[in-house]
Amino acid sequence: MQKLVTDRNFIKQQAEIKEEENDAFRSFLKGFNALEIDEKVHEINNFVTPQIDCTVCGACCRQLMINVTAEENIQVADHLNISPQRFKDEFLEQSMQGKLIINAIPCHFLADSKCSIYEKRFTECSAFPHLHESNFKGRLFGTLIHYAMCPIIFNVIEQLKKEIGFKN
Ligand code: SF4
Ligand code: SF4
Repeated sequence: MQKLVTDRNFIKQQAEIKEEENDAFRSFLKGFNALEIDEKVHEINNFVTPQIDCTVCGACCRQLMINVTAEENIQVADHLNISPQRFKDEFLEQSMQGKLIINAIPCHFLADSKCSIYEKRFTECSAFPHLHESNFKGRLFGTLIHYAMCPIIFNVIEQLKKEIGFKN
């Protein structure tokens, strides 16, 4: 595996430089079997993720819109010792698609780049950047949208390019 890159400014610069390269990578990947790519991505992700410290990053908590389920509304309200209705009124709103979302970006619960409700954080938070899930190929467009923001995504994609012989 190549050495991991954690400098977020460098990653941002690289994202600009590699915009066309990443478009070409998307086309290149179309020729590969989806299950084999998932297997490779999971393997790379298992190597990369434990080495990236999300608590010194918090970029996704500063930039993403987070969906919250009705059950999570109740659980986190309980954790904060307030009523679900109060939690909903203070921290949530309805999205255009009718889903519950956190009503602030950055997220209310981010304090010094750390999640203040970490043990009870929403499924959408713990699942990001979804590289442990299946159908990486089908989600690549959405994943690349966050390539400049998330060091995990950046490192996994760059390693994947190497392992499957992508050359720009
Ligand atoms: S709940 Fe925690 S992990 Fe989720 S976006 Fe907010 S600060 Fe980040
Ligand atoms: S998931 Fe990515 S963007 Fe979010 S805190 Fe971790 S490294 Fe940063």
